Amino acid sequence: MSQQSLQTKLVSVVQHVDQHGSSVPPIYQSTTFKIGSLEDDASQPYDYTRSGNPTRTVVQHQIGKLYDVDAAQVLAVSSGMTALDVILRALVLTHKSRVPTIIAGDDLYGGTQRLLTHLESRNHARVLHVDTANYDAFVELFKQQEHVDCVLLESPTNPLLKVADLPRLTHFIKSSNDACLVAIDNTMMSGMLCNPLKFQCDVVYESATKYLNGHHDIMAGIVVTRTPKMAQEIYFMVNSTGSGLSPFDSWLLVRGLKTLGVRLYQQQHNAMVLSHWLENSCGFVDKKGVKGSPRTRFVGLKSHPQFELHKSFNSGPGAVLSFETGSYEHSRRLVSSRKIKIWAVTVSFGCVNSLISMPCKMSHAAIDPALRQERDFPEDLVRLCCGIENIADLQNDLLEAMIDADIIELRDEGKTIYNKLNGHIATNTVGQGKLPNIYEEFFSQDLVERGSILTSRAKL
Ligand SMILES: *Cc1c(COP(=O)(O)O)cnc(C)c1O
Repeated sequence: MSQQSLQTKLVSVVQHVDQHGSSVPPIYQSTTFKIGSLEDDASQPYDYTRSGNPTRTVVQHQIGKLYDVDAAQVLAVSSGMTALDVILRALVLTHKSRVPTIIAGDDLYGGTQRLLTHLESRNHARVLHVDTANYDAFVELFKQQEHVDCVLLESPTNPLLKVADLPRLTHFIKSSNDACLVAIDNTMMSGMLCNPLKFQCDVVYESATKYLNGHHDIMAGIVVTRTPKMAQEIYFMVNSTGSGLSPFDSWLLVRGLKTLGVRLYQQQHNAMVLSHWLENSCGFVDKKGVKGSPRTRFVGLKSHPQFELHKSFNSGPGAVLSFETGSYEHSRRLVSSRKIKIWAVTVSFGCVNSLISMPCKMSHAAIDPALRQERDFPEDLVRLCCGIENIADLQNDLLEAMIDADIIELRDEGKTIYNKLNGHIATNTVGQGKLPNIYEEFFSQDLVERGSILTSRAKL
């Protein structure tokens, strides 16, 4: 039989023995499991839900498919931050006599930054930050250290969308010091678009709160390791602290995973159309390379300085993008406009609903403004996380808000967009040609070619 694609594998759920023959594995909402035999308790797979639960086992199997590993290398935990916590406790903060050194990026997820700062302040770890998108700067810092215990990588970063060359960095680290743990936060891509285990990193984790579940109704995290032994060490922490994913949340995550392929396809499609439109029609384009001028940031755009690099190890751009209007005040007015009806003003991403935010006022507000400036964080940055809605509706909603915020003016009965901040004029392409009727799309093309498009959908 030919190898099934990921979309197919995630829709089917591992066979289970059920007395009623239910098609969907039930939720084992039970704390304890009865002991079958006092003589042979080692053969009993479950006894107490902190240690193991059949519904959690099912989701771990599904994640194993996503990363092409055995379920024995997967752990489902209660959040993305829990995933990082158990990885660090089990595999990094393990020395009795030495404070471990961790190197991480300088544009990290806020929660990661907070946890690392806490560890550093208690002297549990020495934490060094570097721009991991700058390979040479990373190598220099790494070589200066006597001993590096762990490197924590994330790509692309959020919301600046800087790309770290994960395969090259991992190769350098492992060939310099095989004992240095390479951990990758794969939340921005998900296992469907990037599998860092294929280039020999040690452990990958994701906030399953984002793309994997996709509906913003649970918190969850997953950890996938290169070897079963590492997973056992992490399992020790999960069992000791009770950080395993609850049965109900495991069940919801199994359900969310079934639609990961179609959701990502639509979300990436929307992000592609939107980013092109923001750049070409709305004029958020950096013409002179001047700092502080408007621009659109998305790894799916050819104008992204690391477009080719990102493409070389990911099979899609994801659905998070950001743009700068060139004016803090106008960005603030845009995100707080009452004209916004579809885009939800909220943090997070990966949901079926589209989200808009202003990072310097929301997710990144906790970072000292001086530090934001030092790291070239644009204060006028607007972040967009595309959901699965109709793209023209999303564009029109944003357009209304941009008009309300005095950024954009529509001319020629809406056919032309004028950017009042930089004078850019262009045709408004909303609703043009991109979403053909399904009959036309299907019957006007060679079906064989069409078939190959359908099977590689998530990899837009
Ligand atoms: C959301 C997120 C996390 C944390 O995950 P939670 O499920 O919120 O704990 C970690 N890393 C990245 C990149 C994230 O976006």
